[in-house]
Amino acid sequence: MPELPEVQTVLNGFAEAIQGKSINALECYYPGTVVLDPQIGADVWPAQMIGYQRRGKYMLVHLSGGHSLIIHLRMTGKLVFAASSDEALLHERARFYLAGNEVVHFIDPRTFGKIVLCRTDNLDKYMPRLGLEPLEKEFNAKSLQAALANKKAPIKTVLLDQRVIAGLGNIYVCEILYHAGIMPDVPAGKLLLPGIKLIVKHTISVLNQAIMMGGTSVSDFRRIDDKSGEFQNFLAVYQKERCPKGHEVMRVKMAGRGSFYCPVCQNKQS
Ligand SMILES: [Zn+2]
Repeated sequence: MPELPEVQTVLNGFAEAIQGKSINALECYYPGTVVLDPQIGADVWPAQMIGYQRRGKYMLVHLSGGHSLIIHLRMTGKLVFAASSDEALLHERARFYLAGNEVVHFIDPRTFGKIVLCRTDNLDKYMPRLGLEPLEKEFNAKSLQAALANKKAPIKTVLLDQRVIAGLGNIYVCEILYHAGIMPDVPAGKLLLPGIKLIVKHTISVLNQAIMMGGTSVSDFRRIDDKSGEFQNFLAVYQKERCPKGHEVMRVKMAGRGSFYCPVCQNKQS
């Protein structure tokens, strides 16, 4: 499932593919993949991108004419740029037509992904409540400490909660807790400031490093040019037998997800 670095990678690629070009149409081939705000005008297309941003795992693309796109890849969604519109691709659920016969395919085998086209004024109506944005200034030891206060759930579970921090998923939370030296099952509200500072520091460094490498491709994540990311080569514990220090990595189920941790390296802060 794409997490923040993969979403950022896809968004950067999408923005590059459509930058300065006219988008002439958005077609939907699977019921529910494209959601249309009832308030959009009949005059949406052609439109040009005038800005873009990521919020958690959501891509927001702002268009001329007062419209915006929200693209959510969910489990298996991906965007694939193609220089010609000839080919229909397997599991293609929607398609952007660009000027000059270029297209961007929205491929999504599991069909959970969504593309919302709405009035920019209505964006809030289509976005869920999301927590701290980990690569923005608002994310620091103080704001994280406040967000974790009184939470009895394990830190692993709380970091996965998009209402607390937006954009993290199972892979990066396992990695962040390893680098911070914190066990995944420590009650979130019990963490002391030094541990919280380490989580902040390693969240930022792990995410930035993963973005630099084009994300992690452990299952089917692909960049917009259909190439794999590289960060899977730098994972410390996720789906590993041994941590970088050579200790045996443990695997437990927490909140239905496989948690990977090193009982030696991660026993310092709790
Ligand atoms: Zn270790």
